[in-house]
Amino acid sequence: MAAGMILPPATLGMLGGGQLGRYFVSAAHELGYKVWVLDPDANSPAGQVAERHFPGGYDDYLALDEFAQGCAAITTEFENVPSDTLDYLAKFVPVRPSAAAVAVCQNRIAEKSFLRDNGFPHGPFAAIRNEHDIQVASAALFPAILKVARFGYDGKGQATVNNRDEALLAFAHFKGEACVLEQRLALDYEISVVLARDESGNVRCFPTGENRHTKGILDVSIVPARTSGCLASDAEDLAARIAADLGYIGTMGVEFFVSRGRLIVNEMAPRPHNSGHYTLDACVTNQFEQQVRALCGLPLGDPRTHSAAVMVNLLGDLWYDGEHYREPAWAKLHALGNLKLHLYGKHHARHGRKMGHFTVIGSDAAEVQAIALAARTAIGIRDE
Ligand code: ADP
Ligand code: MG
Repeated sequence: MAAGMILPPATLGMLGGGQLGRYFVSAAHELGYKVWVLDPDANSPAGQVAERHFPGGYDDYLALDEFAQGCAAITTEFENVPSDTLDYLAKFVPVRPSAAAVAVCQNRIAEKSFLRDNGFPHGPFAAIRNEHDIQVASAALFPAILKVARFGYDGKGQATVNNRDEALLAFAHFKGEACVLEQRLALDYEISVVLARDESGNVRCFPTGENRHTKGILDVSIVPARTSGCLASDAEDLAARIAADLGYIGTMGVEFFVSRGRLIVNEMAPRPHNSGHYTLDACVTNQFEQQVRALCGLPLGDPRTHSAAVMVNLLGDLWYDGEHYREPAWAKLHALGNLKLHLYGKHHARHGRKMGHFTVIGSDAAEVQAIALAARTAIGIRDE
């Protein structure tokens, strides 16, 4: 047995109780571990299935002490866990990924600066901390997108701004929060790489996926991406180098734009990624098992896909028929034998809330795409 391997029946700690945490709990359970989840939401999807749920806040140090005492190692599924919390827990047990790596990914200014300083391809941007920064920003950035540096997700905390005046208005609307101003790029399409990196620096990339967003939220992921093999493997190399430069241990997602044929890193997620959900049904090892393996010092699993896959997100909008709230007609999806439906156990559907997803798998990529898109329409998802 390798030194430092954490083995069952050890208890693992998960900060954050969303669907990503819920899948981590399942993967850990399959491997024989127990899991404690810390999340302020009493009904969190991961808390429902873990051995123990701590309903405290991430700055509840009494709860953190008890959590650290009971866990052999701790990870996160929520990129906005305060890095101070991760640093504090790391005094007692291994915390993977590290506070330093998460801190870079959870702040867009730190993230873009990291990309720039380490020579990764990134879009033109300016850090905006006050109105003056907008007044002196390069005119070449417009038309642009102003994004809050912290706590934005699924397109929230973003405003399209055509000129300096609009940027000033949006900045005021964001109450003067630190932001990045990014040049709005012409996107050919978007891709992502989900990978796992272990403590010895070994990296396993899942095959590059192609992502379609609707209203800033991931809608459909297609694997393999319909791109050249070269571009897909360049994306995997870049993602692996980013993980190495961050000293990253665990599963991470790297989002890319393909703009005028060029690869541009958009952002990193210090956790499993929505675009990696296809790995649950189409890969030898899924992204959550890799997270468990990296956390526990086990060798990483084989990330190979055994099927082409298309994943479709199911948002809360689907529960509304006009004003009427009702369960979607799942039987339409269950009728398809190569469609895997996943629901996250969230108690209330809200517009834009990720409630579940489905993945269609098969040997013929074109057929898988056609079936998935037809199923997406059949369940009631409309193209805008
Ligand atoms: P989030 O954290 O919400 O995922 P992103 O920065 O990834 O934030 O933005 C969400 C989506 O908005 C992207 O996937 C892309 O479709 C679009 N987008 C974001 N930034 C740009 C940009 N600079 N140029 C063009 N489109 C963008
Ligand atoms: Mg994104």
